[in-house]
Amino acid sequence: MAKRKKCIGILTSGGDAPGMNAAIRAVTRTAIYHDFDVKAVYRGYKGLFNEEIVPFKTQNVSNIIQQGGTILKTARCQEFTTKEGRQLAFDTITKHGIDALVTIGGDGTLTGARIFATEYNFPIVGIPGTIDNDLYGTDRTIGYDTALNTIMQAVDKIRDTATSHERLFFIEVMGRDAGFLALNGAIASGAEAAIIPEIATQEDQLEELIKNGFRKSKNSSIVIVAESPQTGGAMHVAELVKKEHPQYDVRVSILGHMQRGGSPTANDRILASRMGEAAIYALLDDQRNVMIGIRNDQIEYVPFIKAIKNDKPINRDLLNTIRILST
Ligand code: ATP
Repeated sequence: MAKRKKCIGILTSGGDAPGMNAAIRAVTRTAIYHDFDVKAVYRGYKGLFNEEIVPFKTQNVSNIIQQGGTILKTARCQEFTTKEGRQLAFDTITKHGIDALVTIGGDGTLTGARIFATEYNFPIVGIPGTIDNDLYGTDRTIGYDTALNTIMQAVDKIRDTATSHERLFFIEVMGRDAGFLALNGAIASGAEAAIIPEIATQEDQLEELIKNGFRKSKNSSIVIVAESPQTGGAMHVAELVKKEHPQYDVRVSILGHMQRGGSPTANDRILASRMGEAAIYALLDDQRNVMIGIRNDQIEYVPFIKAIKNDKPINRDLLNTIRILST
């Protein structure tokens, strides 16, 4: 009897990020090239409960590298956080003959993968897909570069109206627990300041801004605020400033979900392609419970536990860069 080919399951989970499709394409095509079968699991871990599992051939991933979002859809899945739920998920995986999983997502997705892989001694390789860039062990996550470019383009447009009306704008960007988008978005768009969750309190940062004077010789100012309980968000910061400094013509703009969308940048497509290919090499290498990371342009295997538990350090010197370059 012919020996059954090994089968790799692939899913995207958590928040969507531009470039996930490029990763799905790379995983699928590298797996097929190395003689694996591929099964796509739809809607993240939910697909393991609804049995939304479809065999993938090379044509299933044609013409998707340039598309934002994820063709596999994504969902949050409460069932997977329970032991009983994960048992059902394992039963489905066994039933469908899946021998290993590649999961693409953020912190939560990798946390779930780690627990499942440990409980069932099941090989899983993770790919970091999140616009927040907040995973330890990798210089970049898939989607971050595209989101950063989207922010930059939006702020450029807001700058036109801010300058014309001589206004002070607080622009809120995503980044619940991490200020990478706010910090680098501020540098890329020439903003006057960034308020990020990593710095103790937003009051400290605001005080610093006010001390230095928002406007100086300028006729508009832009402050990028990370959406986060630590910063309170752009609305909150704007209210504080309006109260203390009624002379400023303050406006708020919340960029919201547009930051997740759009065709991935070349950087994200390349990153996703390399990481997708590397995920299959990791499995061929008998690696398990690792996330694919990239550091100094080299692919690395990062144990899930490290990627999840460690905080990724942010370069605080960049706040100073923003300050100096906006004088
Ligand atoms: P993003 O960073 O974009 O929010 P994420 O992967 O962190 O993406 P989450 O919603 O936190 O998104 O997690 C995705 C899914 O991973 C959850 O819906 C759940 O199914 C699973 N998951 C998260 N945390 C756990 C956990 N502690 N145990 C088991 N599964 C988990």
